Amino acid sequence: STPAAIAAGLSTGARRGLLMKGGVVLEGLSRITAVALDKTGTITEGKPKVTDVVAAGRSDRDVLSLAAALERGSSHPLALAILDKAKAEGAPVPPAFDAQAIPGEGVSGSVGGMKAFLGSPQAVARTVSLAPWESQIRSLNDEGKTVSVLLAGGAVAGLLAIRDEPRADAAAGLSALKHEGIQAVMLTGDNRRTAQAIARSLGIEAQAELLPQDKQRIVKELQGRGFVVAKVGDGINDAPALAAADVGIAMGGGTDVALETADAAALHGRMRDIPDMIALAKSAMGNIR
Ligand code: ADP
Ligand code: MG
Repeated sequence: STPAAIAAGLSTGARRGLLMKGGVVLEGLSRITAVALDKTGTITEGKPKVTDVVAAGRSDRDVLSLAAALERGSSHPLALAILDKAKAEGAPVPPAFDAQAIPGEGVSGSVGGMKAFLGSPQAVARTVSLAPWESQIRSLNDEGKTVSVLLAGGAVAGLLAIRDEPRADAAAGLSALKHEGIQAVMLTGDNRRTAQAIARSLGIEAQAELLPQDKQRIVKELQGRGFVVAKVGDGINDAPALAAADVGIAMGGGTDVALETADAAALHGRMRDIPDMIALAKSAMGNIR
């Protein structure tokens, strides 16, 4: 390929909202054989809605207040859903102290002098038994909902169920990748049942209940098996996997962090953008199969 063809490829991409940070990235994209995609905010819209509030020993409103207090400083898609719901229900949002996001697990902090945590059932189950809640969590998961558990003072104070729909063109974009002979896998920190419900509907393979370092390990394993790997994510929790991939792609207008750490970005946040970007790179590199 010539420098002119590379420059043309980069500028054609930019016009379509497919940002690639230079010729090295374009070249990497032209050789991709596997794509690992996050679920939340990447395969899904990332505009989840709170569908159920299950309170234990306090009102729904109190559960929302505590949860929203913890999430106030967080940019996670689940956090935005919880803050929206609290606002819609007129639940007050008290200040939280020492609020801290734990990537892939949840958020902890101190609210009204009480230690609190909101996050995945897997994370909670390491310290508190969820046996009394398991069947309820399972049935919410089978409805394609993600469940976050609220702990207050070390005890379960409630459950929040949240649903996030796949992007409108998720199935089409993923099948376009397959059509190009590219292996696609969904990586998610979400629970297995919810992940499988979504993956099945899209005809894709999924690995669930992963922490950020697990996602990174899977990217490296794929590379070890000879794949050239692109990792597509919203960049909020998954910097290690984005960095380990041959090409890290930020999905959507997204966060500044994502744009900074990624090698490329699909600004319009369409799933089709991923196969389109790879096709563009192949043609610019004179590497069309
Ligand atoms: P994904 O891999 O689908 O992008 P994450 O790795 O961001 O998901 O999060 C994994 C799980 O951890 C979520 O499904 C949720 O249960 C929990 N979690 C992470 N961050 C938060 C948060 N800020 N608020 C509530 N739950 C969270
Ligand atoms: Mg995520």
